[in-house]
Amino acid sequence: MTAKLILGTEVQATILKEIEAEVHKIKQERGVVPGLATILVGDNPASVSYVTLKVKTALSLGFKEVQDNQPADISEKDLLALIDKYNKDDSINGILVQLPLPKHIDEKKVINAIDPDKDVDGFHPVNVGRLMIGGSECKFPPCTPAGIQELIIRTGVETKGAEVVVVGRSNIVGKPIANMMLQKAKGANSTVTIVHTGTKDLAFHCLRADILIVAAGVPGLVKPEWIKPGACVIDVGVNRIGEKISEKTGKKVAILRGDVDFEKAKEIAGSITPVPGGVGPMTITMLMKNTLNSLKFKLGIA
Ligand code: NAP
Repeated sequence: MTAKLILGTEVQATILKEIEAEVHKIKQERGVVPGLATILVGDNPASVSYVTLKVKTALSLGFKEVQDNQPADISEKDLLALIDKYNKDDSINGILVQLPLPKHIDEKKVINAIDPDKDVDGFHPVNVGRLMIGGSECKFPPCTPAGIQELIIRTGVETKGAEVVVVGRSNIVGKPIANMMLQKAKGANSTVTIVHTGTKDLAFHCLRADILIVAAGVPGLVKPEWIKPGACVIDVGVNRIGEKISEKTGKKVAILRGDVDFEKAKEIAGSITPVPGGVGPMTITMLMKNTLNSLKFKLGIA
């Protein structure tokens, strides 16, 4: 059996079109557009490329986008003051501070300074609590888990009563996606197990999974024999295992691998995400959706 490929690139294109149409409608009816402030501190190449893509995507959807680049030696006090400025700016609905931040800045303090109603990354403790409560309380689910759930829903995989096993318990992927899948809600209502480095028998748990979500950051961690035949496999891992010359551009690019042995796993799974092109494109997509929703909450039309 060859698994159905779950292509984040395709789902992304569909969702971005839906967002663009909504932005156009709100602009015509209400005369406003979603506003996103993107704060980049320093010039870490990975952060620069993430921010560039976020800015480009926001502009292509008709958002107001404020790209605020700050030097690596900005003081914590000045960064907090900048966040306060955007908290008070009525034309800004979402504030994104690209992580990681330089060592002299306390990331927790910075995240906590963002107005929870503009925290479109969903990392503020208030939004973590709202996610845990679920239902209409949850305003901004963090972007990667929200993208994973969207992929599962749009693939048509039954989640109600499904055994979901999440490999990894990070605050940005493992814990939130586990919480989302156990809510009594559409695209959830599952029985959830989280496994990690303290788990005794990883293979035993993975093999029980109807939906296996892997976010460990260990290339090839999940072996094909750990996959239940027909399962839906979501590979969140993005691991750089080397470099190659791109056929398209002739430039050096990273060779990426997921946490699952894709080539063999696709012969066993019912559906599976590739790396790259699976979960990756969904993170920016859901950031855009959260920013649009932030405006809709403010207008009372969400
Ligand atoms: P993280 O903070 O390093 O957390 C990794 C988790 O996996 C930890 O809970 C760890 O367990 C667990 N783990 C690691 N090795 C394991 C093993 N051998 N057996 C069982 N559990 C193990 O990583 P993250 O931020 O969640 O990211 C995970 C992966 O997803 C990375 O490759 C990252 O690049 C990728 N990612 C992709 C996107 C995207 O596509 N947009 C977004 C975010 C992350 P302990 O808690 O016991 O240490």
